[in-house]
Amino acid sequence: MTRTQLSMTQAVVLFGSPGSGKGTQANLLKTCLKVPHISTGDMLREHVREGNSLGVKVASTMQAGSLVRDEVVNHLVEERLAEPDALEGFILDGYPRTRTQAEHLCGWLDGRGIREVVIHLIVDYNVIVARLAGRRQCPRCGTLYNIVSNPPRVAGVCDLDGEKLVVRDDDQESVIRQRLAAYESQSRPLIDFFREKGRRLYEIDASDQSPEALSFQVCRTIQSPEVRQPVSPAVSTNDH
Ligand code: ADP
Repeated sequence: MTRTQLSMTQAVVLFGSPGSGKGTQANLLKTCLKVPHISTGDMLREHVREGNSLGVKVASTMQAGSLVRDEVVNHLVEERLAEPDALEGFILDGYPRTRTQAEHLCGWLDGRGIREVVIHLIVDYNVIVARLAGRRQCPRCGTLYNIVSNPPRVAGVCDLDGEKLVVRDDDQESVIRQRLAAYESQSRPLIDFFREKGRRLYEIDASDQSPEALSFQVCRTIQSPEVRQPVSPAVSTNDH
């Protein structure tokens, strides 16, 4: 079956500031929706770890907390979306992050008759800074922890595979500030873009709830009859 025959492709875009919980929600959501979690940050970090030419090219940009060039990220995502496991749907985490990326993605989706749902996770600025500073990640499986709000069972060790947890290079304080500045100037304006273009945008307050409670709310939103309405592949309601 080709993708154009699948008008029910479940395309979810998790949108929000660094530290808003996109990665945690995507991990919970992929079990509920049974579609892959596609994180541009994880994909880029994988290239950096492998030390290939792309990794070498983007490493310093990422370490500085700035955004990688649109052409690079658009190409990476397009290649990933073409893989068979993404045929029935996907959860995008950390993409799109600029207007050029959003236009690229919307064109790709509209060309295939796929109507995405954008979930904007809204989190208070101070909560975000505290979360990012306490964040630890398993370098092997990518699971995220927080030393205050979501600690592993054994301090410093991943619950799932026993690997020693690490602080990401870009979770250092000065870099956190740069990432939040990049979000404010380049990514936050996309909320208006999604609205103007009539994309399906749902805003959820994600400051106080537990990841599980939030995931329940996100799942309920995505699976509501209003969101699950099929759309004819030939019809594109958005002209961008
Ligand atoms: P966070 O959302 O917490 O900032 P990510 O893992 O999504 O973390 O991203 C880490 C870094 O990877 C970003 O600071 C940026 O350098 C790069 N990156 C990830 N996604 C994109 C994207 N869509 N466009 C440009 N750069 C990106």
